Amino acid sequence: MDNSRRSFIKISALGASGVALSATAFGSINQNALTENNLLAESAKNLKRTPTYCEVCFWKCAAWAYTDEENNIKKVIGNDIDPHCFGRLCPRGTGGVGMYADKDRLKKPLIRVGGKNGEADTFREASWEEALTLVASKMQGIKDKYGAESMALLKHGSPGSHLEHLFKAYGSDTIAEPAYAQCRGPRETGFGLTFGSWIGSPEPTDIRDTKCLVLIGSHIGENMHNSQVQEMSDAIDNGATIITVDPRLSTAASKSDFWLAIKPSTDIALLLSWMHVLIYENLYNKDYVDQYGFGFEQLKEHVKDFTPEWAYGITTIKPEDIRKTARAMAAAAPSVIVHPGRHVVWYGDDSQRERSIAILNGLLGSWGKRGGFYFKEKVKIPKFPHPPYPHPKWGWEELVEKYPFAEMGSTTEVIKATIPGENEEYPVKAWFVAGTNLVNTVPERAMIEKAIDALEFIVVMDTMPMEITGYADVVLPECTYLERYDGIRSATNRVPSIALRMPAAKPKYDSKPAWWMAKQIGDKLGLGEYFKYDDLKDVISWQLEQMGTSLEEMEKVGVKMFERKSGSMFIADGEPHEFGTNSGKIEFYSTELAEKGFDPMPVYTPHAQPEAGFYRLNYGRSPMHTFSRTINNPNLNALKSENKLWVNPKVARIEGLRNEQEVWLENQDGIFSEFSIKVRVTERIRWDSVYMYHGFGHTSKKLSRAYGKGVSDTHLISKVSVDPLMGGTGMRGNFVKIVLENPHKNTEV
Ligand code: SF4
Repeated sequence: MDNSRRSFIKISALGASGVALSATAFGSINQNALTENNLLAESAKNLKRTPTYCEVCFWKCAAWAYTDEENNIKKVIGNDIDPHCFGRLCPRGTGGVGMYADKDRLKKPLIRVGGKNGEADTFREASWEEALTLVASKMQGIKDKYGAESMALLKHGSPGSHLEHLFKAYGSDTIAEPAYAQCRGPRETGFGLTFGSWIGSPEPTDIRDTKCLVLIGSHIGENMHNSQVQEMSDAIDNGATIITVDPRLSTAASKSDFWLAIKPSTDIALLLSWMHVLIYENLYNKDYVDQYGFGFEQLKEHVKDFTPEWAYGITTIKPEDIRKTARAMAAAAPSVIVHPGRHVVWYGDDSQRERSIAILNGLLGSWGKRGGFYFKEKVKIPKFPHPPYPHPKWGWEELVEKYPFAEMGSTTEVIKATIPGENEEYPVKAWFVAGTNLVNTVPERAMIEKAIDALEFIVVMDTMPMEITGYADVVLPECTYLERYDGIRSATNRVPSIALRMPAAKPKYDSKPAWWMAKQIGDKLGLGEYFKYDDLKDVISWQLEQMGTSLEEMEKVGVKMFERKSGSMFIADGEPHEFGTNSGKIEFYSTELAEKGFDPMPVYTPHAQPEAGFYRLNYGRSPMHTFSRTINNPNLNALKSENKLWVNPKVARIEGLRNEQEVWLENQDGIFSEFSIKVRVTERIRWDSVYMYHGFGHTSKKLSRAYGKGVSDTHLISKVSVDPLMGGTGMRGNFVKIVLENPHKNTEV
């Protein structure tokens, strides 16, 4: 590995003829490719460009799709003026054209004709008319029999918003997405309780100007959040101090000034001890805390005994390292970011860990400061006129009512409410699943399968034959983001902007956009008043005109910036500022938590550790892939086709393992991995854990490149620790042992 800090990350500035560049996100770009100027010159001559924004992940980088005279999409290149990508797509986005080209795509609507195991012969092809009439009649049947509320929408990504409109018009607000309870929900709760503001996406972190960036289990760089990765690279170049807390030497850790190889599950102890050092060494930002803080004295008393020596016994991080890193943060303050992370559902006390991170930022005075967190802003997209939605009798809010700080639907609670006897009051009877491969996204597979068995109807909309389509009664093939209009992108950022997505090519095969499906189903359900347009283009055109621009202008520029309306991104020293909390201040002591009977300040609680012979299962992102959905993408699969099991040399010695050896895994509940995984022996992981990239180990044979390659971490996550504040499902408390013989040798997976 090249260890120079300068070479941390180089994101692609160009894409070559529909093939993802062969460089990783961290090495040098393949210079055999055309230079950017040559490429653009060539593009101008031969290719037509169409604005879009990337859907390979949720960062939604604005881009240009280039098509040839035969209307084939040749490449996708970042839009120079876009604040999500600064003109450069990440390796996945560059390879996004592979989604369009993948021959394994869903091609026709499918209707189940028998069985429930996903085998090809249990479906038959159908016309759109037949498939959508069936979906509409089933939705009507559920509404008549149980109420529309019993039909749930489980969704991810842009298509979800079109279906959300359909569901609200139909009378159901039983809507959830894994992005909340299985990903970032706890950080919104933790920061919301402290600063009165959600983090949101993209995160309002002023990384480019920071002097110190602290990453806790966050592996930016492998986690390709484009603009954030580029800003981190700039921050490294500018000499920022990087502190990484991770049981694994991630790529970010390898470029850090401090790598704290923490014992997994003990992060809150480290965070409390950092607070102790800042307060008791008088390193905290006193003026800021005096002016904006609430409950500082209680916090001071609370962390009195949480010395670095106390934390050492828990975290295995040496006291001098805890002190040194706390002092480094204080030296950089307020231009310091203790990053909230993104996939933060770990041990069930995740909202409180996020509170600890928020409190640290409060002590350092980084919220609302250059090099810390900026005040984000977005533009409001005008709502296309439609009648008011009906009021459902219950919905996602009732399903999460036992979690007082839940602010979005929980996929897990929808799944539970589907299982007979689990939730008699709010029973879910049918699902519409859009763009999320639930069985490889949500943990506790046995629970999901039990729920699916009880469903009266399940319709799945996707671009690919993901595992979840095998459980469907009706499968609706969606076209890819490169073949459709979608809603105007308006995301929070330093400066508000919008981006346009329009079709760069006609949908391949017999696939259709989600907005079209939603409208057809709506019309069939007698909800035509909510869909008074022929084409989504008409809606977008109307919205753009309300915003003082036009479709014609947006087709030319792709991205448009707007003036900030809410004033400065930062608070000037001494300037009054009201925070959105009960007290109007940064709550070191949370009045809301106290009112509702929770710990008003974070407390460290020990979590279960692996028994002898078991290792904690840690997982994370590969820079080449997003979740499980890109593994089959021909361009991205060519870069990484399987995951490996990272094991420490000590573990390799004990278990008798060598590099590239194929092994299987068995978790604490006796669940075996479906396939084998190759061993990677490395000092980069602690001896008490193993690590793998997420999203591999596909069992759908229709995914010709991804089937049987590597192991699914989600399959081995059969136990979760639920966050009592917001219902997040902590997934890092699963342990595996390494099995040398194929446990399936007498059975077929
Ligand atoms: Fe696409 Fe990469 Fe941007 Fe995600 S970060 S939207 S994959 S270019």
